[in-house]
Amino acid sequence: MKQFQYVRPASQQAVLDAVGKPGSKIIAGGTNLVDLMKRGVTAPDKLVDINQLPLKNIGVTKSGLHIGALALNSMVSENNLVTQNHPLLAMALKAGASPQLRNMATVGGNMMQRTRCGYFYDTSMPCNKRVPGTGCGAMEGINRMHAIFGASPQCIAVHPSDMCVALAALDATVIIAGKKGERRLPFTEFHRLPGDHPELDNRLAKDELIVGVDIPDNNFAKHSYYLKIRDRQSYAFALVSVAAALDIDNGVIKNARLAMGGVAHKPWRLFDAEKSLIGKPATEENFAYAAQLAMQGAKSYGYNSFKLKLAPATITEALKHAAGLV
Ligand code: SF4
Repeated sequence: MKQFQYVRPASQQAVLDAVGKPGSKIIAGGTNLVDLMKRGVTAPDKLVDINQLPLKNIGVTKSGLHIGALALNSMVSENNLVTQNHPLLAMALKAGASPQLRNMATVGGNMMQRTRCGYFYDTSMPCNKRVPGTGCGAMEGINRMHAIFGASPQCIAVHPSDMCVALAALDATVIIAGKKGERRLPFTEFHRLPGDHPELDNRLAKDELIVGVDIPDNNFAKHSYYLKIRDRQSYAFALVSVAAALDIDNGVIKNARLAMGGVAHKPWRLFDAEKSLIGKPATEENFAYAAQLAMQGAKSYGYNSFKLKLAPATITEALKHAAGLV
């Protein structure tokens, strides 16, 4: 591994000064970054450890819940405010990684984790995300885990997070600090599709820092479910996952939120499917219709063709669980 400098600034301003320099990278829990460094996928000159910043807080705001960027995944998943008001987020977090990893991984780091595409990690293989212009090993290769929505000829990778799927469904907002102050971005706009620049995973500038996420109040707590389909029951990334949240009154759906994981370069929000559910009875038939609607525009690449059937089945099943039909 290449030698690097390590600094541990005590203030947000000092972090922003340090990360603005070329070759610098932020480290928090390190659960993805250290792997990437060991494998030679990334080789920073300087690591900026942000663990001294006071960004671990989880608390109510005027309009919802604030979660600091350094709150650990395990802390968030066990926090009473989260389990009572946003059980979807707690379920998604507990579906991710392993207990040991959740004890190290932070909310900000979870958002910044990189794809688990095997060609991205294998430095002997072509990969436009790792080295732009070299090609995509997965396009004609083993692409069983890869995207069926929003891919480009440059990259068909998926974002690996479970937590981010729930935060996209819950209309969270990302709070970002930069030299000019703070800005807020809808969670659904934080991650990007690959397009012609698959090397860019998200819209965070190199000299910015995620400081937290806000989740607005909602009426989904009674009817939420995160369903993750994977090769084994623990410590595996999603083949397909669905975050489903319903607001049901007298059997009729007043509001709905749906997002998928394991299918795109970003958490994939199902806006048309959500709209189709509003005002309808919470029945399996209506859920299956919404699931079919969600599949419009899906495209597979060979080994991942099974996702074209698995995805709508997972949406329907997640909605049934959310509605209490199973
Ligand atoms: Fe690289 Fe994306 Fe292709 Fe994977 S899918 S090899 S990450 S360019």
